[in-house]
Amino acid sequence: MRVVEPMVELARGLWTTFRMMLDKPVTIQYPEQKKPVKVRFRGRHILKRYDNGLEKCIGCALCAAACPADAIFVESSENTDEQRYSPGDRYASTYEINMLRCIYCGFCEDACPTEAIVLGDQYELSFTDRRQSIYPKEMLIEPLPADARPTPQKTEPGVYTRSVPEMKDPQD
Ligand code: SF4
Ligand code: SF4
Repeated sequence: MRVVEPMVELARGLWTTFRMMLDKPVTIQYPEQKKPVKVRFRGRHILKRYDNGLEKCIGCALCAAACPADAIFVESSENTDEQRYSPGDRYASTYEINMLRCIYCGFCEDACPTEAIVLGDQYELSFTDRRQSIYPKEMLIEPLPADARPTPQKTEPGVYTRSVPEMKDPQD
């Protein structure tokens, strides 16, 4: 009895090992292979544009006010029809996020009246210097859509008077 019991346990252990050898591997060969993130994943921020290339951010700094980690810095300047970055009066001439402070809570996204700032699916953030953790507007703004003009744009007077467009139904 004293010999049989350990042998049974040994056989069970070996059987588990053998069974796992036949299973599909669960290891992901990162970074060559990347696992898709969930729909509600919150990664690095993106500053969005309208289809015509104008920036959605109007420099209101509501995101900075809502940020519990004090990670966002916004400085705004005046738009003109000769040099327009965004609809309305003002645009963000400086927009920075300190990624070391950010806790990816999404409050900035919720506070934004124009849906300009969104947390995307990018999670590969690494720095070798603390200053590299501050992402400026040039890094955050999304690329120009196809056929869009870069900002600043020359626009018709009286066309882009509203900073905040008609909001969609929140159910959409
Ligand atoms: S996700 Fe949260 S912590 Fe990060 S910048 Fe936005 S409000 Fe601040
Ligand atoms: S991202 Fe939104 S909340 Fe922040 S400054 Fe721009 S428009 Fe205002």
